[in-house]
Amino acid sequence: MRPGMTDPRELDKQYVFHPFSMAHVHEQSGALMMARSADGCWITDDSGKRHLDAMAGLWCVNVGYGRDRIADALADQARQLSYFHGFSSMATEPAATLAERVIAKAPEGFSKVFFGASGSDANDTQAKIVWYYNNARGKPEKKKIIARDRGYHGVTVMTAGLTGLPGLHAGFDLPLPMIRHVSAPHNVWTRLPEEDDAAFTARLAKELEDLILSEGPDTVGAFIAEPVMGAGGVIVPPEGYFAAIREVLDRYDVLLIADEVICGFGRLGTWFGTEALDMQPDLMSVAKGITSGYAPLSGVLVGDKVWRVISGEAPAKFGAFGHGYTYTAHPVMAAAALANLDIVEEENLVERAGEMGAYLNEALARAFADLPIVAETRGKGLMAAVEFARPTADGWQKFDSSLQVAPRIVRAALEDGVISRALPNSDAVSFSPPFTITPEEIDLAVSTVRKAAGVVHDALRAEDTP
Ligand code: PMP
Repeated sequence: MRPGMTDPRELDKQYVFHPFSMAHVHEQSGALMMARSADGCWITDDSGKRHLDAMAGLWCVNVGYGRDRIADALADQARQLSYFHGFSSMATEPAATLAERVIAKAPEGFSKVFFGASGSDANDTQAKIVWYYNNARGKPEKKKIIARDRGYHGVTVMTAGLTGLPGLHAGFDLPLPMIRHVSAPHNVWTRLPEEDDAAFTARLAKELEDLILSEGPDTVGAFIAEPVMGAGGVIVPPEGYFAAIREVLDRYDVLLIADEVICGFGRLGTWFGTEALDMQPDLMSVAKGITSGYAPLSGVLVGDKVWRVISGEAPAKFGAFGHGYTYTAHPVMAAAALANLDIVEEENLVERAGEMGAYLNEALARAFADLPIVAETRGKGLMAAVEFARPTADGWQKFDSSLQVAPRIVRAALEDGVISRALPNSDAVSFSPPFTITPEEIDLAVSTVRKAAGVVHDALRAEDTP
């Protein structure tokens, strides 16, 4: 802190309205203030303590911290052309180059990118595209969007409702009335004990079909899903899940939106989660990993089927496409993305995410096998979670939320210098590190969280809550 400067923690306490935080608790406890990128997976707080960030920020710092190449790309582009927009057929070179690069990586049949600045705005754009598409096709009733419990799609008025987590609805009068939810493919909380993958998948596909039929297929426009759910618990669907879902959607002319905000650009060991999960979407949302969090940028990838309609004759009656943000196709953000993608390609980081992901998932399975309050360790690529629950005679029971099991584990690990994350609606602790993480760093993250979980388990036993 410079002499004469007010303590930034005090400024934070007084003036910052924090996202996803309890205002009264924050005013008491204040913030953990991060001060510097260290290198790779490491970040330094304002006291000089180094933390191993096993969450890559919010699932986004894929190439790791401290990349001068991206910092230089941002500065160079800001000097060359700091800003221009994309309205009314305006363009900049970095955005055009990036669009080509993204489409080249995308699955077959994708031809256009609409840029934004966040995952939320990308999914908001998706909802508007679905409506616009169906209006243009003369199907104005086809507007409902089905999402999944525990899915995370953002926080705008539309996307907070699509998000299937009650904490994002409470107090906000959400979801909007055209949103519906179906069950998540959750092994611990949704799968029945006797169900194998085929039976579980068939039941979930039938639930979706029953909902479409009861709502009326002429009123349902789209289904949105993350390939692997992130914030809702790192939920990997059973084998064959998306093929079965796609079949149902095709039967009723319902679009499939893949929310690739976390999975996109390598986290599962493939460029997109859709490849890893055999998901054949009509539309895709990307954000986070496109810049590794060095700059805010998102994209909506539009498949040919939708593009043919929205670029055709029919929508001419609406005038110019009436949607776009000041920062759509921002050249400085695009330059950061291009430098980030150069790093991902040159260092083979997608492949590395697959390899380190396998190592992480094995390490978690081994380390937590003996802890009686672990219902499951699960994951795919560099997304993983440990689900904590109370063992009972016939399965698992959620801990009372007042016990704060996962948050306590995460806080204890943080004390020991490892950042993990407690996910809502049960007690899961997640891991989503930079792709550059080493086996030694994975061992450190896993053993630190395992130790924290052991301490919390002992405390629960002492409190007589086994
Ligand atoms: N979709 C998914 C799958 C996400 O994980 C997130 C953010 N965690 C979002 C959308 C929203 O992105 P943002 O916070 O950038 O608005």
